[in-house]
Amino acid sequence: MPKKPSDFRYNTGPSQVPWAAVGENYNASDIMALIKFLIMKNDDEYDNALKEVETAIQKLSKHGKAPGKLSLGDNVSLLEEKINHYLGTNNATFITNATAGFEIAYKYANLGPGDEVIAPAITFMATISYPLSVGAKVVFADVDPRTINMDPADVAKKITKKTKVIVPVHIGGWPANMDPIMELSKEHDIVVLEDAAHAFGSIYKGKKAGTIGHFGAYSFHEVKNVTSFGEGGVLVSTLPFGEDLKKCRFLGLDLSRKIKNWLYDVVAVEGKYGPFAAGNCSSTEVQALGLIQQMGRIDDIIAVRRRNAQYLTKRFEENEAIIPQLLDTEEIRSTYHLYLLQVDPKKLKGDIQNLKQKLDERGITNIPHFAPLYKFNVLKRLGYNQEEWEKACPNAENAFNHCFTHLPLYGLTQEQLEYMAENVLQSVKELQ
Ligand SMILES: *Cc1c(COP(=O)(O)O)cnc(C)c1O
Repeated sequence: MPKKPSDFRYNTGPSQVPWAAVGENYNASDIMALIKFLIMKNDDEYDNALKEVETAIQKLSKHGKAPGKLSLGDNVSLLEEKINHYLGTNNATFITNATAGFEIAYKYANLGPGDEVIAPAITFMATISYPLSVGAKVVFADVDPRTINMDPADVAKKITKKTKVIVPVHIGGWPANMDPIMELSKEHDIVVLEDAAHAFGSIYKGKKAGTIGHFGAYSFHEVKNVTSFGEGGVLVSTLPFGEDLKKCRFLGLDLSRKIKNWLYDVVAVEGKYGPFAAGNCSSTEVQALGLIQQMGRIDDIIAVRRRNAQYLTKRFEENEAIIPQLLDTEEIRSTYHLYLLQVDPKKLKGDIQNLKQKLDERGITNIPHFAPLYKFNVLKRLGYNQEEWEKACPNAENAFNHCFTHLPLYGLTQEQLEYMAENVLQSVKELQ
């Protein structure tokens, strides 16, 4: 049918408001740039194949039409449904990254200057970036030397009247010991935010890690087990937010309500101590599509990682200077995001720094995720006394300086895995 002038190029479509009327769509050559980026090579065979694809994409783009929405559309909703199904939650909210999810939880707790947050000494900066940015005080809890996760006994000692949030981090996918943390939370009325950046799929006593505290945020950054084209996060909450958690993601816009002469209302979100204003951490349809695809493979991805971890742990039994990654138990299942390799310095007659050097020489990738945060310059500049925190977190100090590193677990051939095991064992023997 020929187009009538009233078939205006844009309608408000699924977005309900006419934002789409001011946006440019992607065309065939834009899509080609994306394909060339995602699948690269520099040779003739590739160039020939690419030409065929280009012809096909051009043909396709003549028949097809652009999607009505690029941000927060049906794919985001579908992804959230799948994630709720996977986690057993009902309010999964897909956002720009895990850090943005933490921010929402901190805002819920009305975190401000003078308030305190307890976070483990060993984690990524993202865990504490919002508290630092609003002038709250980060109190570092020492770690359990076996798992390098937050030690609940040390958390108990560091709680004060000003503590508003406790942030257990499931380092490497191994769940932090949540039961005692939740007890402390109840006893002192403190919000628990799980940094589940590594733990999408981990299980603690029958529950998915990240779904036990008041909030949990997962990361789908490119270095995690699965990704949404490089950046992405999901926030979940056990609090009765209903749809309000989603409002936290996009400025509190509420299209089901209108003010006079306008398309929508902007609402506040109910926090623990009163209403707060939402920020913007919206995610895109393309990111959602990427994660839907990768999530479809997640059980297999974790299974491969688990098998590799089992292999390494079995091999490392042969030398008691090595303290290998723990393996799943009846109560705990890890995502095996990282393989925690520790040594006993006395039995090694050296420490992890010596071993790391030998591993580097043999081309074995190993990265100790992470350095105790109080060592970074920004904390010094904000008035944190490094020496004092080193004294307050002796296990973190010992683990970082003398005991642990991490090995990768995924994308390895059996040959590489064997090379890794062999060379760790040989290096350890050389040091002994
Ligand atoms: C990656 C990571 C984050 C941050 O995740 P983003 O999605 O990049 O914000 C937070 N905590 C830990 C422990 C991480 O490794």
